Amino acid sequence: MDKNVSELVSQLRELVGKQRAYGQAAGVMYYDAATAAPRGGAADRGKTLAVLSEVSYELETGETTGNLLHALDAVKEQLDFVTRREVSEMLRSYERTKKIPKEEYIAYTVLINDADAVWHKAKEESDWASFEPYMEKIVEFNRKLACWLAPEKKPYDALLDEYERGLTMEKCDAFFAILKERLVPLIHQITEKGIQPDDSFIHLDYPIEQQRKLSDWLMNAIGIDREYCSIGETEHPFTNGFSKHDVRITTHYHLNDPLSSLFSVVHEGGHALYELHVSDELQDTTIGGGVSMGIHECQSRFFENIIGRSRGFIHNLLPELQTLFPEQMKGVTEELLYRVANVAKPSLIRTEADELTYALHIIIRYELEKQLIEGSLAVSELPTAWNERVKAYLGLNVPDDRHGVLQDSHWSGGSIGYFPSYALGSAYGAQLLTEMRKTMDFDAVVASGDLKPIRDWLTERVWSKGSLYDPQEVFEQAAGAAFDPTYYTDYLTRKYSELYQL
Ligand SMILES: [Zn+2]
Repeated sequence: MDKNVSELVSQLRELVGKQRAYGQAAGVMYYDAATAAPRGGAADRGKTLAVLSEVSYELETGETTGNLLHALDAVKEQLDFVTRREVSEMLRSYERTKKIPKEEYIAYTVLINDADAVWHKAKEESDWASFEPYMEKIVEFNRKLACWLAPEKKPYDALLDEYERGLTMEKCDAFFAILKERLVPLIHQITEKGIQPDDSFIHLDYPIEQQRKLSDWLMNAIGIDREYCSIGETEHPFTNGFSKHDVRITTHYHLNDPLSSLFSVVHEGGHALYELHVSDELQDTTIGGGVSMGIHECQSRFFENIIGRSRGFIHNLLPELQTLFPEQMKGVTEELLYRVANVAKPSLIRTEADELTYALHIIIRYELEKQLIEGSLAVSELPTAWNERVKAYLGLNVPDDRHGVLQDSHWSGGSIGYFPSYALGSAYGAQLLTEMRKTMDFDAVVASGDLKPIRDWLTERVWSKGSLYDPQEVFEQAAGAAFDPTYYTDYLTRKYSELYQL
């Protein structure tokens, strides 16, 4: 590397350091808003975020940045592999973000901050009308965003690509068609059989203070180093990763449903493990985080379901539950807990849905988003359209918008096109499990209570790579084959046929 090139690289490091500083500042404010900040502070916070986002926009798209990235791109043969990838990814963001007018970019940051605050209250009070004007603006911005980013694409395709590079409606349609074809009959068979385990013990009072202790146990059980990962409490659980040394997960405790937070913690814990295990050489670069939402949800759903809802995990979980909740868990057997944790039953809330009916929740959101963005569904019609689809797909009546259209935080957070990543990630996980089983006695490892072999496998094949490769490449390197959704439908068919003796 000649002197000129090393000078360019040190300028790059300086730029990345600044970008990270502003990114982290905004991220901490987001986390603070969701966990600790008083509701009345939203408007002031919006002003601060506007200032931060303007600086971020300029750092990402300014002339100096453009010149530097183009200069580095011109000598890319002399750059090491990591820096070359970093430059190409930054150049991609530079070119994409530059297409968004600065005023719109800043205004959207402020809008999302306001929308999030309004959504919290709207959800609490089940008051769609107060959120509707914000949703109007969010949809309108996302339509414009799609045109700015990729005018040659169908708008919703452009948005899907934001969360999972390369994902299109065509791919989603084909994927969801397979899920519907294979899973809907299975759900019907279970419903017709009409035999469900007695889950009354799970609706007793489970004191929040004890549930917090359970969260500590869970984080420890899946191997999270608490030195670098904390847990907070929010309306809607999420994970924030600022670096591999500062990851925050959150949960929401329900007095009469400890499984809700339990599986949320394991889910968010899966996201956290991914961020915590990115290779040290990617630390301080722009490619030191998880590569896409699909790959991220693969990790979280793998921990939540494939590990968390397995017999082996339940075997280790039960004694802990019985210690923390001796009265509530009296007489509960391993078999009963396993069955209750895996009840397949249409329900209203996506984050609490079982593995089998979960995909239907995603399909509902996917179809609605598609219509919203193509303009065949007005925002004002969204609650009705939501309720109709829940009736059609899940056979349930939605009692209020809190349990319907207002339940998720994604839209108020400005994310349209995110939801399919959950189903895709779940399906990725089932295929990785098949690959893992080739060299590991997976069930024995989970039952042993020491998940290190699984973490090591995922670290080597997925986590350590950060964003060094495109999501599809990361998946194929890990799975050793192209994506095939039938691994997922086979996994679910096997699991639920055994559970319900079909
Ligand atoms: Zn997740």
